Amino acid sequence: SSSSYDAVIIGAGAAGLFCAAQAGQQGLKVLLIDHAEKVAEKIRISGGGRCNFTNRDLDVRAPHKYYVGQNPQFCRSALSRYTPADFIALLDKHGIAYEEKHKGQLFAQRSAEDIIRMLLAECAAGGVEHWQPCSVKKVTFSALSTDTGSAGSYAIQTDRGTVTAPRLVIATGGLSIPKIGATDFGYRIAQQFKLPLIERRAGLVPLTFDGDAWKPYAQLAGLALPVEISTGSKKERMSFLEDLLFTHRGLSGPAVLQISSYWKDNTPLHINLLPGTDMTEVLQQAKARSRKLVANELAAHMPTRLADAWTSQQPELQRPINEASDKALTRLAEQLSRWEITPNGSEGYKKAEVTLGGVDTKALSQQTMEAKNQPGLYCIGEVVDITGWLGGYNFQWAWASAFACAQAMAQQ
Ligand code: FAD
Repeated sequence: SSSSYDAVIIGAGAAGLFCAAQAGQQGLKVLLIDHAEKVAEKIRISGGGRCNFTNRDLDVRAPHKYYVGQNPQFCRSALSRYTPADFIALLDKHGIAYEEKHKGQLFAQRSAEDIIRMLLAECAAGGVEHWQPCSVKKVTFSALSTDTGSAGSYAIQTDRGTVTAPRLVIATGGLSIPKIGATDFGYRIAQQFKLPLIERRAGLVPLTFDGDAWKPYAQLAGLALPVEISTGSKKERMSFLEDLLFTHRGLSGPAVLQISSYWKDNTPLHINLLPGTDMTEVLQQAKARSRKLVANELAAHMPTRLADAWTSQQPELQRPINEASDKALTRLAEQLSRWEITPNGSEGYKKAEVTLGGVDTKALSQQTMEAKNQPGLYCIGEVVDITGWLGGYNFQWAWASAFACAQAMAQQ
């Protein structure tokens, strides 16, 4: 015997919890399943434990500005039907305090736990049944021959028995941080039902460099400074003005996390270590009036450790600035404003905040998130080939795609 539901949602993360709550509150009988011990682990660790749950600056008419994927325009419909203001209103309803940190990024004032509790309360209000931990062994679909209003039925075999539903929602997220339960489940289900996939790779991730090439900078681990970072050739050049962080193995910080989602293997990054400063001019003026060491003059504009590391590699710069040649100073200015460095890879899914690629948006309806060729199968959140910038955009996509899906399921 098996119990039946109006919808079964697999994955109790950001998208799954929100979708379950919305669908339940619209009157559907919903079962939410997750294999992990704890609910919404990614929300818990997100935003340094404070969850950057949305971004106030999101312009829903121009999603290509904040989202990466084969077709970022795909998310426009969902984002415009469930906006950052809608999610903020939900927090207000629950009396959860939040604050803006940087560039429109909104964080829970107290803890990410507040967001999780809110989502669980919303699920309870919708009468959602929640099985966790519970693993899914197999999913099968049988098309109905008689016309019962739905095109078929999904049977979901779990370690607590088999359940059936005319609608199955895949909300199992991406591959990043396997330690807390990330799996390729969603991609495997997509393959089973012949939904095309876009190749996956780690995004919002620190980048690494060859040991030898990195030696001069390894001593800078821990150092942070604002930079302008860019990648890509002219036409598709992307750049960000954010903080750069030196680590033992390479580069991190918001600047590098952002650019990592656009960086392609074997291509260089360009970093302006002194954005907004004309260093050629600054060094020429210093040369005319100062007898300090080049490193000391530089240290007036950047962290001392960086100034020292930079000049120590070049004998012609280890002297008072008035004795340095114009040529050496011009080259120094160029290096600092256009430091070219080629990563050999990234820290991978162990450290990545998101997974680029996933279920091809071509296979889904942008209004409902339903698979075009597989009735009743929906994909929401990070499992879809939509990846946001750092700054709350990924959660906003999770909420918006979940909302679109829940609305569609309830209206059927
Ligand atoms: P998830 O939230 O990952 O949920 C997927 C769920 O599916 C999990 O509960 C998992 O246990 C379950 N699952 C997986 N496989 C199976 C299976 N086989 N069977 C059953 N269940 C399964 N984004 C922001 O917008 N702001 C931030 O501040 C932010 N900070 C982040 C910090 C870190 C360290 C990380 C890793 C990510 C961060 N992100 C942030 C990204 C954000 O967490 C994700 O984009 C978002 O959680 C995706 O939502 P989702 O519901 O699609 O997937």
